[in-house]
Amino acid sequence: MKYADLHVHTNESDGTSSPEKLVQQAIRAGLSGVAIVDHDTVNALPRAISAAQSSSLTIIPGIELTAQYENQEIHILGYFIDYLNAQLLEKLILVRQNRVERVKKIVFHLKELGVNLDPQVVFDIAGNASVGRMHLARALLKEGLVSSTSEAFQKYIGDKSPAYVLGFKLTPREAFQLIKDAGGVPVLAHPYIIRNDNLITQFAKEGLIGLEVYYPEHSQSMINFYLGLAKELGLLVTGGSDFHGSAKPDVSLGKAKVPWELVQKLQAASRSNR
Ligand code: AMP
Ligand code: ZN
Ligand code: FE
Ligand code: FE
Repeated sequence: MKYADLHVHTNESDGTSSPEKLVQQAIRAGLSGVAIVDHDTVNALPRAISAAQSSSLTIIPGIELTAQYENQEIHILGYFIDYLNAQLLEKLILVRQNRVERVKKIVFHLKELGVNLDPQVVFDIAGNASVGRMHLARALLKEGLVSSTSEAFQKYIGDKSPAYVLGFKLTPREAFQLIKDAGGVPVLAHPYIIRNDNLITQFAKEGLIGLEVYYPEHSQSMINFYLGLAKELGLLVTGGSDFHGSAKPDVSLGKAKVPWELVQKLQAASRSNR
């Protein structure tokens, strides 16, 4: 039986494995494919694809776009995108510049809470990667301001925490379209986070094609529920671990995965999109 983990991050966003290391880890984990879906960047893809060339591992080109809807961030996966698409690349540059500004805003909020963090520590940890809260959490840990990255999220920068800042530029509808225009298939990531299933129905009308049903945080009853919802709305089913390397030590590569047949359905949907 062939399996793919369709939700994996590298150090081009907030994971800790380089694209080349990720390829080795995926082979060792016995996976037939991995989709690299870094936050708002495709920079890992050419490197991972070339590293996997002499192996039987398939790299599925993907992305995880952050959109914003009614005061919450919504993560939208895009599969089988053309990662050389000029419109996509241009938009991503703006989106990543916005992430830099957002980090500065979060640092300002932290200061108001009495936590003094030099934003340069965050930017040094991120390097050229798409910067985000995980880099902030690692910076807070490095400076001894928290005792773990999960404490950083709990106390300061989690979705409901006092230093959290929104400010993402894309709406979900724009994210669906951007992915489709790049030949890809838009899929709603980890739907348990939005806690509003009517929104999924609305997204399906706005261009969503798939739902991430298999996910480490989804219980069996949630999986059953989302399988039913996907069927009702005519959405494709996907799944993956959200591997971030040692940044999320309890999530191993392949912790959630899907049979190859679902990968083929995604690929067929991307073909009918071109
Ligand atoms: P951002 O794109 O900057 O909003 O950061 C989102 C990323 O932060 C997610 O992909 C996770 O890697 C991480 N993250 C968000 N919430 C938590 C949490 N409660 N615990 C650990 N990591 C989290
Ligand atoms: Zn992440
Ligand atoms: Fe996500
Ligand atoms: Fe993710």
